[in-house]
Amino acid sequence: MHIASGKLLKDFSTFGIGGPAKAFAEAKTIEEMQALILFAKKEKMAYLVIGKGSNALFDDCGFEGLVILNKILFCSFEQTIVSVGAGYSFALLGVQSARQGLSGLEFASGIPAAVGGAIYMNAGANGGQTSDALTEVVYITHEGEKQILQAKDLCFSYRSSPFQGKGGAIVAATFTLKPSPEARKKQIEIVQYRTKTQPYGEMSCGCVFRNPQTHSAGHLIEQAGLKDFQIGGARVSSLHANFIVNTGEAKASDVLELASHIQTVVAEKTGVTLEMELCVIPHILPS
Ligand SMILES: Cc1cc2nc3c(=O)[nH]c(=O)nc-3n(C[C@H](O)[C@H](O)[C@H](O)COP(=O)(O)OP(=O)(O)OC[C@H]3O[C@@H](n4cnc5c(N)ncnc54)[C@H](O)[C@@H]3O)c2cc1C
Repeated sequence: MHIASGKLLKDFSTFGIGGPAKAFAEAKTIEEMQALILFAKKEKMAYLVIGKGSNALFDDCGFEGLVILNKILFCSFEQTIVSVGAGYSFALLGVQSARQGLSGLEFASGIPAAVGGAIYMNAGANGGQTSDALTEVVYITHEGEKQILQAKDLCFSYRSSPFQGKGGAIVAATFTLKPSPEARKKQIEIVQYRTKTQPYGEMSCGCVFRNPQTHSAGHLIEQAGLKDFQIGGARVSSLHANFIVNTGEAKASDVLELASHIQTVVAEKTGVTLEMELCVIPHILPS
């Protein structure tokens, strides 16, 4: 088990923001993940498991604990069933399954997540969400115990999973897909549409706010006249108003100030309270 210190978390977030981690390690196998969680518990150290950092806003002061980068990368298809390590690219999984004529994860091809992060957030797009095709999750609990969970017994909803706020680590998953000759065409259309309508070339963490039940958060922010509004190095995207982009030197505090300003203005103008989708990782977490 190799544990490094002082790794800059901005290099592990698509926002490009974040100070140093007190301790940092990679888990390449389920056993390594289990050992790292038990190590953190023994040392009474807070820990955080991350995937691609595509929904993680790290603190400017970094993280006072152990950051575990999930690099469990296996992937195997058996007819319509795919078993995958939780560090595997969710986008690649979406492309590979569609190429094999399998439907159920086409939407994943536009989401720059790891499989574990997608399950944790129940990531979704284009009418699909991660839990739809999910059949099994392998999970290491906060106590370090390995569990095999059936998705039908778990409660998922819009951007919500039973793993949120529980600690532990999602280490592997199984998805059951459906044969479809249209899968690849649908997947390509999804990616083409998203690259035109979302700021893929800029540093961001995707949508900052959850869509309220009857509205699109992006439309509300746009209607409030906030496109291109900027605080410090953080700016509301001109392409998609629910994205905040890092123009180069943004601090976490700029993003949080801008998010709070958006919430205030949208509430004043529309009466709707926007709720954060972005995971804001504090400098200090309880161990
Ligand atoms: C350009 C862009 C487009 C996006 N489009 C979409 C979209 O269409 N739909 C959508 O839903 N999201 C979208 N997102 C947001 C993001 O991709 C998702 O929220 C995704 O699920 C985050 O996965 P991740 O692996 O990057 O997680 P991270 O950002 O690494 O982590 C996010 C949270 O999950 C926890 N976590 C991560 N992995 C594990 C694990 N293995 N076990 C336990 N906890 C874990 C972390 O501790 C953290 O709290 C987009 C982001 C970007 C940058």
